[in-house]
Amino acid sequence: MTATDKTGEPGRDFIHDIIAADLEAGRVSTVVTRFPPEPNGYLHIGHAKSICLNFGTALEFGGRCHLRFDDTNPTKEEQEYIDAIKRDVRWLGFDWGEHLYHASDYFQQLYDWAEHLIRAGKAYVDDTPAEEMRALRGTLTEPGRNSRFRDRPVEENLDLFRRMRAGEFPNGARVLRAKIDMASGNINLRDPVLYRILHAPHPRTGTAWCIYPTYDFAHGQSDAIEGVTHSLCTLEFEDHRPLYDWLIENLPVPARPRQYEFARLALNYTVLSKRFLTALVREGRVAGWDDPRMPTFAGLRRRGVPPAALRDFVRRVGVARANSVVDLAMFDHAVRDHLNRVALRRMAVLRPLRVVIENYPEGETEELDAVNNPEDPAAGTRRIRFGRELYVEREDFMENPPRKFYRLTPGREVRLRYAYLVTCREAVKNAAGEVVELRCTYDPATRGGNAPDGRKVHATIHWVAAASSLATEVRLYNPLFTRPDPGADGDLMADLNPNSLEILRECRLEPALAEAAVGEAVQFERQGYFCPDPDSAPGRLVFNRTIALRDSWAKAQAAGG
Ligand code: ATP
Ligand code: MG
Repeated sequence: MTATDKTGEPGRDFIHDIIAADLEAGRVSTVVTRFPPEPNGYLHIGHAKSICLNFGTALEFGGRCHLRFDDTNPTKEEQEYIDAIKRDVRWLGFDWGEHLYHASDYFQQLYDWAEHLIRAGKAYVDDTPAEEMRALRGTLTEPGRNSRFRDRPVEENLDLFRRMRAGEFPNGARVLRAKIDMASGNINLRDPVLYRILHAPHPRTGTAWCIYPTYDFAHGQSDAIEGVTHSLCTLEFEDHRPLYDWLIENLPVPARPRQYEFARLALNYTVLSKRFLTALVREGRVAGWDDPRMPTFAGLRRRGVPPAALRDFVRRVGVARANSVVDLAMFDHAVRDHLNRVALRRMAVLRPLRVVIENYPEGETEELDAVNNPEDPAAGTRRIRFGRELYVEREDFMENPPRKFYRLTPGREVRLRYAYLVTCREAVKNAAGEVVELRCTYDPATRGGNAPDGRKVHATIHWVAAASSLATEVRLYNPLFTRPDPGADGDLMADLNPNSLEILRECRLEPALAEAAVGEAVQFERQGYFCPDPDSAPGRLVFNRTIALRDSWAKAQAAGG
Protein backbone atom coordinates (compact mmCIF):
# COMPACT_ATOMS: atom_id res chain seq x y z
CA MET A 1 0.00 0.00 0.00
CA THR A 2 1.21 3.51 -0.65
CA ALA A 3 1.90 6.00 2.05
CA THR A 4 -0.54 8.87 2.44
CA ASP A 5 -0.27 11.66 -0.07
CA LYS A 6 2.40 14.26 0.23
CA THR A 7 -0.44 16.68 -0.39
CA GLY A 8 -1.86 16.35 3.06
CA GLU A 9 -2.61 14.58 6.24
CA PRO A 10 -4.84 11.53 6.27
CA GLY A 11 -8.41 12.51 7.06
CA ARG A 12 -9.57 12.80 10.65
CA ASP A 13 -13.15 11.67 10.53
CA PHE A 14 -15.69 9.82 12.64
CA ILE A 15 -14.59 6.42 11.27
CA HIS A 16 -11.05 7.22 12.25
CA ASP A 17 -12.24 8.10 15.75
CA ILE A 18 -14.27 4.89 16.10
CA ILE A 19 -11.31 2.77 15.10
CA ALA A 20 -8.92 4.63 17.34
CA ALA A 21 -11.31 4.08 20.26
CA ASP A 22 -11.71 0.36 19.43
CA LEU A 23 -7.96 -0.09 19.38
CA GLU A 24 -7.47 1.79 22.59
CA ALA A 25 -10.20 -0.15 24.40
CA GLY A 26 -8.71 -3.41 23.11
CA ARG A 27 -11.91 -4.34 21.24
CA VAL A 28 -9.76 -5.04 18.20
CA SER A 29 -6.05 -5.64 17.91
CA THR A 30 -5.57 -5.39 14.15
CA VAL A 31 -7.76 -3.25 11.94
CA VAL A 32 -9.13 -5.17 8.98
CA THR A 33 -11.25 -3.44 6.35
CA ARG A 34 -12.37 -4.48 2.88
CA PHE A 35 -13.30 -2.84 -0.37
CA PRO A 36 -16.17 -4.92 -1.80
CA PRO A 37 -16.97 -4.01 -5.42
CA GLU A 38 -19.58 -5.87 -7.36
CA PRO A 39 -17.91 -6.73 -10.69
CA ASN A 40 -20.76 -5.37 -12.79
CA GLY A 41 -19.07 -2.23 -14.08
CA TYR A 42 -15.93 -0.13 -13.90
CA LEU A 43 -14.84 1.82 -10.84
CA HIS A 44 -15.78 5.50 -10.73
CA ILE A 45 -14.92 8.59 -8.68
CA GLY A 46 -17.40 7.51 -6.00
CA HIS A 47 -15.52 4.27 -5.48
CA ALA A 48 -12.34 6.28 -4.96
CA LYS A 49 -13.84 7.57 -1.74
CA SER A 50 -14.54 4.06 -0.51
CA ILE A 51 -11.13 2.77 -1.61
CA CYS A 52 -9.22 5.63 0.02
CA LEU A 53 -11.27 5.24 3.19
CA ASN A 54 -10.89 1.46 3.44
CA PHE A 55 -7.29 1.13 2.32
CA GLY A 56 -6.17 4.46 3.74
CA THR A 57 -7.61 3.82 7.20
CA ALA A 58 -6.20 0.30 7.41
CA LEU A 59 -2.82 1.61 6.34
CA GLU A 60 -2.89 4.39 8.85
CA PHE A 61 -3.60 2.01 11.74
CA GLY A 62 -1.11 -0.61 10.57
CA GLY A 63 -3.87 -3.02 9.61
CA ARG A 64 -4.87 -4.47 6.27
CA CYS A 65 -7.53 -4.04 3.64
CA HIS A 66 -8.97 -6.83 1.55
CA LEU A 67 -10.17 -6.58 -1.99
CA ARG A 68 -13.30 -8.68 -2.11
CA PHE A 69 -15.41 -9.14 -5.18
CA ASP A 70 -19.05 -9.22 -4.22
CA ASP A 71 -19.85 -11.65 -7.01
CA THR A 72 -23.22 -13.04 -6.06
CA ASN A 73 -25.18 -12.06 -9.16
CA PRO A 74 -23.73 -13.96 -12.14
CA THR A 75 -26.20 -12.46 -14.60
CA LYS A 76 -24.56 -9.04 -14.36
CA GLU A 77 -20.96 -9.84 -13.55
CA GLU A 78 -18.09 -10.34 -15.95
CA GLN A 79 -14.40 -11.18 -15.90
CA GLU A 80 -13.68 -7.97 -17.82
CA TYR A 81 -14.94 -6.00 -14.83
CA ILE A 82 -12.92 -8.05 -12.36
CA ASP A 83 -9.73 -7.37 -14.32
CA ALA A 84 -10.53 -3.67 -14.71
CA ILE A 85 -11.27 -3.25 -11.01
CA LYS A 86 -7.95 -4.81 -9.99
CA ARG A 87 -6.03 -2.63 -12.42
CA ASP A 88 -7.90 0.45 -11.24
CA VAL A 89 -7.39 -0.11 -7.51
CA ARG A 90 -3.66 -0.48 -8.15
CA TRP A 91 -3.66 2.62 -10.33
CA LEU A 92 -5.17 4.62 -7.48
CA GLY A 93 -2.16 3.53 -5.46
CA PHE A 94 -3.39 0.70 -3.27
CA ASP A 95 -2.40 -2.91 -2.95
CA TRP A 96 -4.32 -5.73 -1.29
CA GLY A 97 -1.22 -7.96 -1.22
CA GLU A 98 -2.35 -11.56 -0.77
CA HIS A 99 -5.78 -10.52 0.44
CA LEU A 100 -7.80 -10.99 -2.71
CA TYR A 101 -11.15 -12.64 -2.04
CA HIS A 102 -14.46 -13.36 -3.68
CA ALA A 103 -17.83 -13.85 -2.05
CA SER A 104 -18.04 -16.87 -4.36
CA ASP A 105 -15.12 -18.43 -2.42
CA TYR A 106 -17.61 -18.80 0.43
CA PHE A 107 -20.58 -20.28 -1.44
CA GLN A 108 -20.25 -23.64 0.30
CA GLN A 109 -19.82 -22.08 3.75
CA LEU A 110 -22.75 -19.75 3.16
CA TYR A 111 -24.85 -22.66 2.04
CA ASP A 112 -23.97 -24.60 5.18
CA TRP A 113 -24.91 -21.62 7.31
CA ALA A 114 -28.22 -21.35 5.50
CA GLU A 115 -28.94 -24.97 6.50
CA HIS A 116 -27.89 -24.05 10.03
CA LEU A 117 -30.56 -21.36 10.13
CA ILE A 118 -33.15 -23.77 8.74
CA ARG A 119 -32.32 -26.33 11.40
CA ALA A 120 -32.58 -23.67 14.07
CA GLY A 121 -36.07 -22.79 12.78
CA LYS A 122 -34.77 -19.39 11.63
CA ALA A 123 -35.16 -19.77 7.89
CA TYR A 124 -37.78 -21.25 5.59
CA VAL A 125 -38.40 -21.97 1.95
CA ASP A 126 -41.14 -19.81 0.53
CA ASP A 127 -43.07 -20.70 -2.64
CA THR A 128 -45.07 -17.47 -2.70
CA PRO A 129 -44.90 -15.88 -6.18
CA ALA A 130 -42.73 -12.77 -6.27
CA GLU A 131 -45.57 -10.33 -6.78
CA GLU A 132 -47.60 -11.68 -3.91
CA MET A 133 -44.54 -11.73 -1.71
CA ARG A 134 -44.00 -8.04 -2.43
CA ALA A 135 -47.58 -7.26 -1.47
CA LEU A 136 -47.26 -9.25 1.77
CA ARG A 137 -44.17 -7.28 2.72
CA GLY A 138 -46.24 -4.26 3.66
CA THR A 139 -45.03 -0.68 3.46
CA LEU A 140 -43.20 1.80 5.61
CA THR A 141 -46.46 2.53 7.42
CA GLU A 142 -48.13 -0.89 7.28
CA PRO A 143 -46.76 -4.09 8.77
CA GLY A 144 -46.19 -7.08 6.54
CA ARG A 145 -48.15 -10.31 6.69
CA ASN A 146 -46.86 -13.83 7.14
CA SER A 147 -46.43 -16.08 4.16
CA ARG A 148 -48.55 -19.23 4.30
CA PHE A 149 -45.29 -21.22 4.01
CA ARG A 150 -43.72 -19.55 7.04
CA ASP A 151 -44.40 -22.41 9.42
CA ARG A 152 -43.14 -25.23 7.26
CA PRO A 153 -41.49 -27.94 9.32
CA VAL A 154 -37.71 -27.92 9.47
CA GLU A 155 -37.42 -31.23 7.60
CA GLU A 156 -39.53 -29.97 4.72
CA ASN A 157 -37.51 -26.76 4.53
CA LEU A 158 -34.27 -28.70 4.48
CA ASP A 159 -35.54 -31.01 1.77
CA LEU A 160 -36.82 -28.18 -0.41
CA PHE A 161 -33.67 -26.10 0.05
CA ARG A 162 -31.50 -29.07 -0.95
CA ARG A 163 -33.66 -29.60 -4.00
CA MET A 164 -33.37 -25.90 -4.86
CA ARG A 165 -29.64 -26.39 -4.77
CA ALA A 166 -29.86 -29.58 -6.82
CA GLY A 167 -31.52 -27.64 -9.62
CA GLU A 168 -34.98 -29.19 -9.38
CA PHE A 169 -36.86 -25.89 -9.65
CA PRO A 170 -36.89 -23.11 -12.22
CA ASN A 171 -35.73 -19.54 -11.60
CA GLY A 172 -37.96 -17.70 -9.17
CA ALA A 173 -39.97 -20.76 -8.12
CA ARG A 174 -38.86 -20.58 -4.50
CA VAL A 175 -36.60 -18.57 -2.21
CA LEU A 176 -35.04 -19.13 1.17
CA ARG A 177 -36.04 -16.47 3.69
CA ALA A 178 -34.87 -15.65 7.18
CA LYS A 179 -37.65 -15.99 9.74
CA ILE A 180 -37.45 -12.76 11.70
CA ASP A 181 -40.48 -10.49 12.05
CA MET A 182 -43.03 -9.53 9.41
CA ALA A 183 -44.30 -6.74 11.66
CA SER A 184 -40.91 -5.12 12.15
CA GLY A 185 -40.73 -1.39 11.59
CA ASN A 186 -37.62 -2.12 9.53
CA ILE A 187 -38.64 -3.66 6.22
CA ASN A 188 -35.25 -5.35 5.97
CA LEU A 189 -36.20 -7.52 8.94
CA ARG A 190 -39.48 -8.71 7.40
CA ASP A 191 -38.23 -12.16 6.56
CA PRO A 192 -35.56 -11.06 4.04
CA VAL A 193 -34.63 -13.31 1.16
CA LEU A 194 -31.33 -15.15 1.70
CA TYR A 195 -31.17 -17.31 -1.42
CA ARG A 196 -32.69 -17.18 -4.87
CA ILE A 197 -32.70 -19.68 -7.71
CA LEU A 198 -30.69 -18.54 -10.71
CA HIS A 199 -29.77 -21.00 -13.41
CA ALA A 200 -26.83 -19.00 -14.69
CA PRO A 201 -23.17 -19.93 -14.96
CA HIS A 202 -20.88 -17.95 -12.69
CA PRO A 203 -17.54 -16.51 -13.93
CA ARG A 204 -15.73 -18.34 -11.13
CA THR A 205 -17.85 -21.25 -9.99
CA GLY A 206 -19.20 -22.18 -13.40
CA THR A 207 -22.32 -24.32 -13.13
CA ALA A 208 -21.60 -25.62 -9.63
CA TRP A 209 -24.42 -23.51 -8.23
CA CYS A 210 -27.89 -22.60 -9.36
CA ILE A 211 -28.87 -20.84 -6.14
CA TYR A 212 -27.08 -17.70 -5.10
CA PRO A 213 -27.00 -15.81 -1.79
CA THR A 214 -28.33 -12.27 -1.64
CA TYR A 215 -26.09 -9.32 -0.79
CA ASP A 216 -27.43 -9.29 2.76
CA PHE A 217 -26.68 -12.93 3.38
CA ALA A 218 -23.27 -12.88 1.71
CA HIS A 219 -21.82 -9.64 2.91
CA GLY A 220 -21.63 -9.77 6.69
CA GLN A 221 -20.76 -13.46 6.68
CA SER A 222 -17.92 -12.83 4.21
CA ASP A 223 -16.72 -10.08 6.54
CA ALA A 224 -16.78 -12.54 9.43
CA ILE A 225 -14.92 -15.25 7.52
CA GLU A 226 -12.18 -12.81 6.63
CA GLY A 227 -11.94 -11.34 10.10
CA VAL A 228 -12.97 -7.89 8.92
CA THR A 229 -13.27 -5.66 11.97
CA HIS A 230 -14.83 -2.55 10.46
CA SER A 231 -17.15 -3.04 7.52
CA LEU A 232 -17.50 0.43 6.00
CA CYS A 233 -20.34 1.02 3.59
CA THR A 234 -22.51 3.80 2.28
CA LEU A 235 -25.54 5.20 4.07
CA GLU A 236 -28.18 3.36 2.08
CA PHE A 237 -27.12 0.25 4.04
CA GLU A 238 -27.86 1.82 7.38
CA ASP A 239 -31.28 0.16 7.47
CA HIS A 240 -29.65 -3.17 6.66
CA ARG A 241 -27.43 -3.04 9.74
CA PRO A 242 -29.98 -4.71 12.07
CA LEU A 243 -30.15 -7.60 9.60
CA TYR A 244 -26.36 -7.65 9.34
CA ASP A 245 -26.20 -7.96 13.13
CA TRP A 246 -29.04 -10.50 13.31
CA LEU A 247 -27.25 -12.84 10.94
CA ILE A 248 -23.93 -12.50 12.77
CA GLU A 249 -25.70 -13.26 16.04
CA ASN A 250 -27.60 -16.25 14.75
CA LEU A 251 -24.79 -17.99 12.90
CA PRO A 252 -21.70 -19.76 14.22
CA VAL A 253 -19.42 -17.26 12.49
CA PRO A 254 -15.76 -17.05 13.49
CA ALA A 255 -15.75 -13.28 14.17
CA ARG A 256 -18.04 -10.38 14.89
CA PRO A 257 -17.51 -7.64 12.37
CA ARG A 258 -19.39 -4.37 12.70
CA GLN A 259 -20.85 -2.24 9.97
CA TYR A 260 -20.44 1.54 9.82
CA GLU A 261 -22.00 3.83 7.26
CA PHE A 262 -20.71 6.98 5.60
CA ALA A 263 -22.14 9.31 2.96
CA ARG A 264 -21.89 8.38 -0.70
CA LEU A 265 -19.95 10.72 -2.89
CA ALA A 266 -22.15 12.55 -5.37
CA LEU A 267 -20.87 15.11 -7.89
CA ASN A 268 -22.91 17.60 -9.85
CA TYR A 269 -22.93 17.38 -13.67
CA THR A 270 -21.91 13.75 -13.16
CA VAL A 271 -23.59 10.37 -13.02
CA LEU A 272 -22.13 7.86 -10.57
CA SER A 273 -24.52 4.99 -10.90
CA LYS A 274 -23.19 1.90 -12.58
CA ARG A 275 -26.58 1.25 -14.09
CA PHE A 276 -26.50 4.57 -15.94
CA LEU A 277 -22.81 4.38 -16.75
CA THR A 278 -23.44 0.97 -18.28
CA ALA A 279 -26.28 2.44 -20.33
CA LEU A 280 -24.00 5.20 -21.66
CA VAL A 281 -21.52 2.57 -22.82
CA ARG A 282 -24.09 0.10 -24.19
CA GLU A 283 -25.99 2.75 -26.10
CA GLY A 284 -22.81 4.14 -27.59
CA ARG A 285 -23.28 7.60 -26.06
CA VAL A 286 -19.61 7.49 -25.17
CA ALA A 287 -16.71 5.63 -26.77
CA GLY A 288 -16.46 3.10 -23.93
CA TRP A 289 -15.77 2.78 -20.21
CA ASP A 290 -12.50 4.63 -20.75
CA ASP A 291 -13.97 7.52 -22.70
CA PRO A 292 -12.24 10.55 -21.16
CA ARG A 293 -15.64 12.09 -20.43
CA MET A 294 -16.58 9.20 -18.16
CA PRO A 295 -16.17 9.57 -14.38
CA THR A 296 -14.55 6.13 -14.32
CA PHE A 297 -10.95 5.59 -13.27
CA ALA A 298 -10.34 4.33 -16.79
CA GLY A 299 -11.75 7.54 -18.27
CA LEU A 300 -9.89 9.79 -15.86
CA ARG A 301 -6.64 7.94 -16.49
CA ARG A 302 -7.05 8.31 -20.24
CA ARG A 303 -7.85 11.98 -19.78
CA GLY A 304 -4.60 12.44 -17.88
CA VAL A 305 -5.87 12.83 -14.32
CA PRO A 306 -3.09 11.58 -12.04
CA PRO A 307 -4.13 9.17 -9.28
CA ALA A 308 -2.61 11.48 -6.67
CA ALA A 309 -5.04 14.22 -7.74
CA LEU A 310 -7.97 11.84 -7.30
CA ARG A 311 -6.72 10.82 -3.85
CA ASP A 312 -6.26 14.45 -2.95
CA PHE A 313 -9.79 15.28 -4.09
CA VAL A 314 -11.24 12.49 -1.97
CA ARG A 315 -9.25 13.71 1.02
CA ARG A 316 -10.59 17.22 0.56
CA VAL A 317 -14.17 15.95 0.37
CA GLY A 318 -13.70 14.12 3.66
CA VAL A 319 -15.85 11.43 5.23
CA ALA A 320 -19.09 12.37 6.90
CA ARG A 321 -22.50 10.92 7.64
CA ALA A 322 -24.53 13.56 5.80
CA ASN A 323 -25.20 13.08 2.10
CA SER A 324 -24.30 16.06 -0.04
CA VAL A 325 -23.48 16.89 -3.63
CA VAL A 326 -19.92 17.98 -4.27
CA ASP A 327 -19.25 20.65 -6.87
CA LEU A 328 -17.44 19.35 -9.93
CA ALA A 329 -15.33 22.51 -9.70
CA MET A 330 -13.81 21.08 -6.54
CA PHE A 331 -12.61 18.04 -8.44
CA ASP A 332 -11.25 20.22 -11.22
CA HIS A 333 -9.49 22.34 -8.65
CA ALA A 334 -7.75 19.31 -7.15
CA VAL A 335 -6.61 18.23 -10.61
CA ARG A 336 -5.30 21.69 -11.54
CA ASP A 337 -3.64 22.13 -8.22
CA HIS A 338 -1.76 18.87 -8.55
CA LEU A 339 -0.81 19.30 -12.19
CA ASN A 340 0.33 22.85 -11.60
CA ARG A 341 2.96 21.45 -9.28
CA VAL A 342 4.14 18.51 -11.36
CA ALA A 343 3.33 19.06 -15.04
CA LEU A 344 6.01 20.10 -17.53
CA ARG A 345 5.25 23.28 -19.48
CA ARG A 346 5.23 23.13 -23.23
CA MET A 347 4.04 25.36 -26.06
CA ALA A 348 1.25 24.27 -28.35
CA VAL A 349 -0.98 26.21 -30.70
CA LEU A 350 -4.48 24.82 -30.88
CA ARG A 351 -5.93 27.07 -33.62
CA PRO A 352 -2.90 28.12 -35.64
CA LEU A 353 -2.42 31.41 -37.48
CA ARG A 354 0.72 31.69 -39.56
CA VAL A 355 3.23 34.43 -38.71
CA VAL A 356 6.13 35.55 -40.91
CA ILE A 357 8.87 37.59 -39.24
CA GLU A 358 9.86 39.69 -42.22
CA ASN A 359 13.22 40.86 -40.90
CA TYR A 360 14.34 37.44 -39.68
CA PRO A 361 16.85 35.94 -42.13
CA GLU A 362 15.36 33.38 -44.44
CA GLY A 363 16.55 29.79 -43.88
CA GLU A 364 17.99 30.57 -40.43
CA THR A 365 16.87 29.23 -37.07
CA GLU A 366 18.17 29.51 -33.50
CA GLU A 367 17.66 27.81 -30.16
CA LEU A 368 16.34 29.53 -27.07
CA ASP A 369 16.01 28.43 -23.46
CA ALA A 370 12.60 27.68 -22.02
CA VAL A 371 11.69 26.79 -18.44
CA ASN A 372 10.13 23.35 -17.94
CA ASN A 373 8.19 24.14 -14.79
CA PRO A 374 8.40 27.45 -12.94
CA GLU A 375 6.91 25.68 -9.87
CA ASP A 376 9.72 23.15 -9.83
CA PRO A 377 13.25 24.41 -10.56
CA ALA A 378 14.50 20.81 -10.58
CA ALA A 379 12.54 20.25 -13.79
CA GLY A 380 15.20 22.36 -15.55
CA THR A 381 15.04 23.97 -18.96
CA ARG A 382 14.86 22.88 -22.57
CA ARG A 383 15.88 24.34 -25.91
CA ILE A 384 13.18 25.52 -28.28
CA ARG A 385 13.66 26.46 -31.91
CA PHE A 386 12.78 29.87 -33.31
CA GLY A 387 12.64 30.79 -36.99
CA ARG A 388 11.16 33.10 -39.58
CA GLU A 389 7.84 31.28 -39.81
CA LEU A 390 5.80 30.59 -36.73
CA TYR A 391 2.29 29.79 -35.59
CA VAL A 392 0.42 31.72 -32.98
CA GLU A 393 -3.07 31.25 -31.60
CA ARG A 394 -5.75 32.69 -33.88
CA GLU A 395 -7.49 34.29 -30.94
CA ASP A 396 -4.31 36.20 -30.05
CA PHE A 397 -4.90 38.45 -33.06
CA MET A 398 -7.68 40.95 -33.60
CA GLU A 399 -7.81 43.40 -36.45
CA ASN A 400 -10.06 45.88 -34.65
CA PRO A 401 -9.60 45.07 -31.00
CA PRO A 402 -11.64 46.41 -28.11
CA ARG A 403 -9.88 48.69 -25.63
CA LYS A 404 -8.48 46.08 -23.28
CA PHE A 405 -7.13 43.69 -25.89
CA TYR A 406 -3.33 43.89 -25.61
CA ARG A 407 -2.33 41.10 -27.91
CA LEU A 408 -1.59 41.14 -31.63
CA THR A 409 -3.13 43.84 -33.81
CA PRO A 410 -1.51 45.90 -36.57
CA GLY A 411 1.05 48.29 -35.07
CA ARG A 412 1.20 46.56 -31.66
CA GLU A 413 4.32 45.03 -30.06
CA VAL A 414 3.96 41.83 -28.00
CA ARG A 415 6.35 39.38 -26.41
CA LEU A 416 6.73 35.92 -27.87
CA ARG A 417 7.36 33.75 -24.82
CA TYR A 418 11.09 33.02 -24.31
CA ALA A 419 11.91 34.59 -27.70
CA TYR A 420 11.62 38.21 -28.84
CA LEU A 421 9.43 41.25 -28.90
CA VAL A 422 7.64 41.34 -32.23
CA THR A 423 5.43 43.94 -33.83
CA CYS A 424 2.52 43.10 -36.05
CA ARG A 425 2.73 45.05 -39.34
CA GLU A 426 -0.04 43.68 -41.46
CA ALA A 427 -2.73 41.00 -41.65
CA VAL A 428 -2.88 39.11 -44.94
CA LYS A 429 -6.37 38.01 -46.02
CA ASN A 430 -7.69 35.46 -48.47
CA ALA A 431 -10.35 36.10 -51.10
CA ALA A 432 -13.05 35.50 -48.49
CA GLY A 433 -11.62 38.26 -46.33
CA GLU A 434 -10.33 35.91 -43.63
CA VAL A 435 -6.98 36.61 -41.99
CA VAL A 436 -4.60 33.85 -43.08
CA GLU A 437 -1.22 35.25 -42.13
CA LEU A 438 0.39 37.97 -40.05
CA ARG A 439 3.44 39.89 -41.27
CA CYS A 440 5.53 40.93 -38.31
CA THR A 441 9.01 42.27 -37.50
CA TYR A 442 11.14 41.42 -34.51
CA ASP A 443 13.65 43.40 -32.47
CA PRO A 444 16.91 41.39 -32.43
CA ALA A 445 17.99 43.27 -29.29
CA THR A 446 15.22 41.58 -27.25
CA ARG A 447 16.47 37.99 -27.33
CA GLY A 448 14.89 35.97 -24.53
CA GLY A 449 11.96 38.36 -24.50
CA ASN A 450 13.64 41.19 -22.55
CA ALA A 451 13.82 44.76 -23.79
CA PRO A 452 17.20 46.36 -22.93
CA ASP A 453 15.57 49.78 -22.71
CA GLY A 454 12.96 48.45 -20.29
CA ARG A 455 10.04 49.32 -22.56
CA LYS A 456 6.78 47.69 -21.61
CA VAL A 457 4.74 45.25 -23.61
CA HIS A 458 1.41 44.24 -22.17
CA ALA A 459 1.03 40.75 -23.56
CA THR A 460 3.13 37.60 -23.75
CA ILE A 461 1.85 35.00 -26.14
CA HIS A 462 2.90 31.45 -26.94
CA TRP A 463 3.99 30.24 -30.33
CA VAL A 464 5.66 27.35 -32.14
CA ALA A 465 8.13 27.39 -35.03
CA ALA A 466 6.29 26.31 -38.18
CA ALA A 467 8.96 24.06 -39.67
CA SER A 468 9.71 21.91 -36.63
CA SER A 469 6.24 21.82 -35.11
CA LEU A 470 4.21 18.61 -34.90
CA ALA A 471 0.77 18.43 -36.49
CA THR A 472 -1.64 17.04 -33.93
CA GLU A 473 -5.24 16.29 -33.15
CA VAL A 474 -6.44 17.65 -29.83
CA ARG A 475 -9.66 16.54 -28.15
CA LEU A 476 -11.31 19.01 -25.83
CA TYR A 477 -13.72 17.69 -23.23
CA ASN A 478 -16.53 19.39 -21.39
CA PRO A 479 -18.88 17.90 -18.80
CA LEU A 480 -20.96 15.08 -20.20
CA PHE A 481 -24.19 16.59 -18.90
CA THR A 482 -25.67 20.05 -19.23
CA ARG A 483 -27.41 20.16 -15.90
CA PRO A 484 -26.09 19.77 -12.36
CA ASP A 485 -28.59 17.01 -11.61
CA PRO A 486 -28.59 14.87 -14.75
CA GLY A 487 -31.66 12.71 -15.15
CA ALA A 488 -33.66 14.63 -12.52
CA ASP A 489 -36.53 14.95 -15.02
CA GLY A 490 -36.47 11.23 -15.61
CA ASP A 491 -34.60 11.16 -18.90
CA LEU A 492 -30.87 11.04 -18.36
CA MET A 493 -30.01 10.85 -22.04
CA ALA A 494 -31.92 14.08 -22.74
CA ASP A 495 -29.47 15.86 -20.47
CA LEU A 496 -26.36 14.80 -22.38
CA ASN A 497 -24.18 17.74 -23.38
CA PRO A 498 -24.01 17.85 -27.20
CA ASN A 499 -20.75 19.80 -26.84
CA SER A 500 -18.96 17.46 -24.48
CA LEU A 501 -16.35 16.66 -27.13
CA GLU A 502 -14.73 19.08 -29.54
CA ILE A 503 -12.01 17.86 -31.88
CA LEU A 504 -9.32 20.20 -33.22
CA ARG A 505 -7.43 18.60 -36.07
CA GLU A 506 -4.87 21.22 -37.08
CA CYS A 507 -3.01 21.85 -33.85
CA ARG A 508 0.74 22.46 -33.75
CA LEU A 509 3.03 21.37 -30.93
CA GLU A 510 6.62 22.07 -30.04
CA PRO A 511 8.70 18.98 -30.93
CA ALA A 512 9.51 18.04 -27.32
CA LEU A 513 5.90 16.91 -27.01
CA ALA A 514 6.64 13.90 -29.19
CA GLU A 515 8.21 12.41 -26.06
CA ALA A 516 5.23 12.91 -23.75
CA ALA A 517 4.05 9.62 -22.28
CA VAL A 518 0.53 8.38 -22.88
CA GLY A 519 -1.70 9.47 -20.02
CA GLU A 520 0.87 11.84 -18.53
CA ALA A 521 -0.37 15.41 -18.54
CA VAL A 522 1.77 18.38 -19.54
CA GLN A 523 0.74 22.00 -19.48
CA PHE A 524 0.21 23.70 -22.80
CA GLU A 525 1.09 27.21 -21.74
CA ARG A 526 -1.90 29.51 -21.34
CA GLN A 527 -4.34 26.74 -22.25
CA GLY A 528 -4.47 23.90 -19.81
CA TYR A 529 -3.23 20.38 -19.21
CA PHE A 530 -3.13 17.82 -21.98
CA CYS A 531 -1.85 14.30 -22.40
CA PRO A 532 -1.28 11.94 -25.31
CA ASP A 533 -4.18 9.60 -26.00
CA PRO A 534 -3.57 5.89 -26.61
CA ASP A 535 -4.98 6.54 -30.10
CA SER A 536 -1.67 8.31 -30.88
CA ALA A 537 0.50 6.68 -33.50
CA PRO A 538 3.98 7.68 -34.66
CA GLY A 539 3.54 10.74 -36.84
CA ARG A 540 -0.08 11.07 -35.83
CA LEU A 541 -0.32 12.37 -32.31
CA VAL A 542 -3.61 12.72 -30.48
CA PHE A 543 -3.83 14.72 -27.25
CA ASN A 544 -6.64 14.89 -24.73
CA ARG A 545 -7.35 17.96 -22.72
CA THR A 546 -7.18 16.87 -19.10
CA ILE A 547 -8.44 20.20 -17.87
CA ALA A 548 -8.38 23.84 -18.94
CA LEU A 549 -6.33 26.32 -16.94
CA ARG A 550 -9.44 28.22 -15.98
CA ASP A 551 -13.02 27.13 -15.75
CA SER A 552 -14.38 28.98 -18.76
CA TRP A 553 -17.12 26.40 -19.29
CA ALA A 554 -18.82 27.02 -15.96
CA LYS A 555 -18.69 30.76 -16.63
CA ALA A 556 -20.24 30.33 -20.05
CA GLN A 557 -22.99 28.15 -18.54
CA ALA A 558 -23.68 30.71 -15.84
CA ALA A 559 -23.88 33.46 -18.46
CA GLY A 560 -26.38 31.40 -20.42
CA GLY A 561 -23.94 30.91 -23.28
P1 ATP B 1 -24.05 1.32 -7.94
O1 ATP B 1 -25.14 1.71 -7.00
O2 ATP B 1 -23.68 2.35 -8.95
O3 ATP B 1 -24.23 -0.04 -8.54
P2 ATP B 1 -22.59 0.15 -5.86
O4 ATP B 1 -22.53 0.81 -4.55
O5 ATP B 1 -23.55 -0.97 -5.99
O6 ATP B 1 -22.78 1.22 -7.00
P3 ATP B 1 -20.34 -1.51 -5.61
O7 ATP B 1 -19.50 -2.11 -6.63
O8 ATP B 1 -21.21 -2.40 -4.81
O9 ATP B 1 -21.18 -0.38 -6.29
O10 ATP B 1 -19.47 -0.60 -4.64
C1 ATP B 1 -18.34 -1.08 -3.97
C2 ATP B 1 -18.12 -0.23 -2.76
O11 ATP B 1 -17.96 1.13 -3.15
C3 ATP B 1 -19.30 -0.29 -1.83
O12 ATP B 1 -18.83 -0.43 -0.52
C4 ATP B 1 -20.00 1.02 -2.02
O13 ATP B 1 -20.61 1.44 -0.85
C5 ATP B 1 -18.84 1.94 -2.43
N1 ATP B 1 -19.33 3.01 -3.28
C6 ATP B 1 -19.99 2.90 -4.45
N2 ATP B 1 -20.35 4.10 -4.93
C7 ATP B 1 -19.91 5.01 -4.03
C8 ATP B 1 -19.97 6.43 -3.93
N3 ATP B 1 -20.59 7.17 -4.86
N4 ATP B 1 -19.40 7.02 -2.86
C9 ATP B 1 -18.78 6.29 -1.93
N5 ATP B 1 -18.69 4.96 -1.95
C10 ATP B 1 -19.25 4.31 -2.97
MG1 MG C 1 -23.49 -2.58 -4.59
